[in-house]
Amino acid sequence: MFQNLSDKLDKAFHILKGHGKITEINVAETLKEVRRALLDADVNFKIAKDFTTRVKEKALGQDVLTTLQPGQLMVKIVKDELTELMGGEATGINLSGAPTVILMSGLQGSGKTTFSGKLAHYLKTKKNKKPLLVACDIYRPAAINQLHVVGEQIGVEVYSEPENKNPVDIAQKAIQHAKSNGYNVVIVDTAGRLAIDEQMMNEIAQVHQAIKPQETLFVVDAMTGQDAVNTAKAFNDRLDFDGVILTKLDGDTRGGAALTIKSVVNKPIKFIGTGEKMEALDVFYPSRMADRILGMGDVVSLVERAQEQYNEEEARKLQKKIAKNEFGFDDFLAQIQQIKKMGSMKDLVGMIPGAGKAMKDVEIEDDAFKHIEAIIYSMTPKERSKPAIIDMKRKTRIAKGSGRKVEEVNQLLKQFEQMSKMMKMMQGPGGKNLMRMMGG
Ligand code: GDP
Repeated sequence: MFQNLSDKLDKAFHILKGHGKITEINVAETLKEVRRALLDADVNFKIAKDFTTRVKEKALGQDVLTTLQPGQLMVKIVKDELTELMGGEATGINLSGAPTVILMSGLQGSGKTTFSGKLAHYLKTKKNKKPLLVACDIYRPAAINQLHVVGEQIGVEVYSEPENKNPVDIAQKAIQHAKSNGYNVVIVDTAGRLAIDEQMMNEIAQVHQAIKPQETLFVVDAMTGQDAVNTAKAFNDRLDFDGVILTKLDGDTRGGAALTIKSVVNKPIKFIGTGEKMEALDVFYPSRMADRILGMGDVVSLVERAQEQYNEEEARKLQKKIAKNEFGFDDFLAQIQQIKKMGSMKDLVGMIPGAGKAMKDVEIEDDAFKHIEAIIYSMTPKERSKPAIIDMKRKTRIAKGSGRKVEEVNQLLKQFEQMSKMMKMMQGPGGKNLMRMMGG
């Protein structure tokens, strides 16, 4: 995420390395580089200039502080300012109202439908809500189908009226349906166009007026940079929305939209989309994002994601199996599925402090477990529970079945054996503490 910006800021801070004191001269040099980094990230000129002016004032006002290295002090000031620029505190979603009505707005392709599904999934699994999705796109039957597919995937009902060409009517009826059927959140997905046009704006403004949502959210593709900011402005002028959703932050975005949107429309970014899967949704925390931009990783989010997947009962069962030497490849597969649910490997690596920088030239496959899974799926149930029976003949068959080399099968078996041994050791005396330390 924002690798280019991170690299450039890192370079800017290098100027201060080796200097004992922050002076007008080295600050000016550093800030010139910081400004250039922001401009390259597609932050608009005025915002970049104001940003560096504020950092400069703070830096020069603090040159008496000798406990910190100037470089570190500057990083701290820039971090605080970045956090402020992106909105300061995290802003949650307003879930008042019975039911809570949430209206989605944004251009076609911004990720509205995907986000509607992600939000429904999030509210259902994390907030214990019973959401209803509503398809209000009256122009593209495919859009209605897409929402039904999403709903099915996450087990959430979708309200649609394919024959009805009046979006206000559909939305109102959906809210009635929610009230009489015990749904407490209604998420209304609306029609988008490829570009802003009057008819679309009128239509969504009418829906907005009629259903008076608790939350009107504007969804925008982060990859579109300054265009994202301009679109946000146009929608905000008409809808006075409550929050922004930035999608596709898992792609190669420069960061401009995330950094500028708040100061242009004065509305908080509430969530970010980091992938196509239904789980790829994060609450937006400005300070955590600033940490990531400055290469400090985001351990808090990483731990949170691990905790979300942690299931006490499952963990206990697993410990028993390990103790009894019964940990097999099926359990291993289940572990892999859990890690995968935490996010893409690229995303996870980016959250480890320093790792983003160290591994920036390493190609990380999005589905790093693909080959391992293929090998395990080619094993029989018996082989999975008792890997010791896998002889050369079986290895050859497994390799053939999975389309991998026999050496790879060997490697996996060896790693699995080592891992089993290690887990067994951790169960022994003294090992309990280690397990506890690792959250086990
Ligand atoms: P809509 O027209 O605004 O409803 O947009 P869609 O929800 O159909 O999304 C358009 C495309 O963007 C789809 O292919 C989605 O899978 C993809 N997409 C949506 N959100 C994200 C995201 O956070 N990351 C990535 N990589 N793709 C996304």
